[in-house]
Amino acid sequence: MSNTYRTIILARMGEIALKGLNRGKFERQLIDNLRWRLKEYGAFSIVQSQSRIWIEPKDSNPDILEDKETADLVLHAVTQVFGLVSASLVWKFDGDMESIKEHAVKLTDEILSEHDYKTFKVESKRGDKRFPLASPEICCDVGEAILIAHPELVVDVHDPDFIIYVEVRENRFVYSEKLEGHRGLPVGTAGKGMLLLSGGIDSPVAGYMMASRGMQLEAIYFHSYPYTSERALEKVKDLARIVSQYSGTILLHVCNFTDIQLDLYKNSPQDMLTITMRRIMFEIAEELANKQGCKCLITGESLGQVASQTIEAIQITNEVVKTMPVFRPLIGLDKEETCNISRRIGAFETSILPYEDCCTVFVAKHPKTHPQRKHIVEAEEKLDIPALVKKGIEGIETYKIERVSRVNE
Ligand code: ATP
Ligand code: MG
Repeated sequence: MSNTYRTIILARMGEIALKGLNRGKFERQLIDNLRWRLKEYGAFSIVQSQSRIWIEPKDSNPDILEDKETADLVLHAVTQVFGLVSASLVWKFDGDMESIKEHAVKLTDEILSEHDYKTFKVESKRGDKRFPLASPEICCDVGEAILIAHPELVVDVHDPDFIIYVEVRENRFVYSEKLEGHRGLPVGTAGKGMLLLSGGIDSPVAGYMMASRGMQLEAIYFHSYPYTSERALEKVKDLARIVSQYSGTILLHVCNFTDIQLDLYKNSPQDMLTITMRRIMFEIAEELANKQGCKCLITGESLGQVASQTIEAIQITNEVVKTMPVFRPLIGLDKEETCNISRRIGAFETSILPYEDCCTVFVAKHPKTHPQRKHIVEAEEKLDIPALVKKGIEGIETYKIERVSRVNE
């Protein structure tokens, strides 16, 4: 039974399906994003029907999904596009009930060659009402065929080890596994934000979370070369590349922060250094954000995590930002939850590489954890902040970061 089917992908939309009048806008963006994400694998026809999306190789590369390894890569890439609940590799074919049974049995053979499963069930949908059997009968017939081929299996309709899905439409379809998507809303439907991206665990996760709400990202990294190494910058680029698998292209702005930090180090009290530094970072980020058309700042701050993240420190840092909100999606998460997301998106291993960031180099021994406004007024007395911000903006270099390419090229 060779070449009797074509492998395609079926993806299921999540929250978008709940959208009202502007649902079309979300769907079009999702399809554009899928096309962008899959372009490295070739051309696909991407068709939406109700809350589902059918992704099929075009004739220019009809067999791309017939190689299991490539098919898994493409499926994985599909699930990284925000807006999808899940996706499956699906066999598409034609024919009558005999053909459906043959394909369902063959799929079962493949599943059992990889898994030690004991129980299963069949679920079916009949979209083509001209098909002579109704859904329950299709389930029975297919289940019977599978049991004949594999008498060791047992049907369990409540908690089966695997499910064979059968769909009868203008074509026939069988599939089994569903790979979970990252849900959220399609990037490009919620404006653009400026992510303060360091080399740590938190900020890449913060960027991922805002992108999952449909936000396009740009990022700024404050680099204190040579106090922080070239490797630290490479690590930040790698992290941006990982996030861009989900968010799409990221413009990464690298702000040369060394002179500014040396100035702060000289002219502002040690115990307020972290706060004065963070206020300047926020001012530079805000100015750049406005220039780039970003409507918010995004940070990886989490309440109480370190001295600079007490409510007083956040308040005093936040007040320099006048024209946009600062989003802190991790504010209520504990570190373990953030680490779990970091692992899930594939950033953790890179984040924990031990390259110093600028804050650890110039960090004060005893930072003030509950700074008050009078402290900051004193601390900034000798600083020419507008000049420092201008200097920061002028020294920015920008890189275009694209997602990680497929490994087998
Ligand atoms: P992360 O894991 O993201 O580095 P953190 O727990 O180390 O965060 P801080 O160093 O206090 O916490 O930084 C808080 C937030 O400030 C970071 O999540 C990031 O958004 C921003 N930030 C810190 N350092 C930099 C930097 N060098 N460049 C850009 N943003 C930074
Ligand atoms: Mg950090």
